[in-house]
Amino acid sequence: MTNKSKKRFIAGATCPECKSLDSIMLYFENNVEKLACTKCDYNETQAEPKVASATRPDENVIGVFKP
Ligand SMILES: [Zn+2]
Repeated sequence: MTNKSKKRFIAGATCPECKSLDSIMLYFENNVEKLACTKCDYNETQAEPKVASATRPDENVIGVFKP
């Protein structure tokens, strides 16, 4: 199998739909970062990675970008 799409869970992320903790998966589809919840139908295309600073609602947070 040549499936390159790796799915991984985001620790500490909360689903905006069902409010479940640690149910958000991050994966890539066509080089686009996407989020999906395993407990409901929530899914979202992530234009820019905001998850890295999700636990710090601080205006001085510098995002971690991994091109
Ligand atoms: Zn959900």
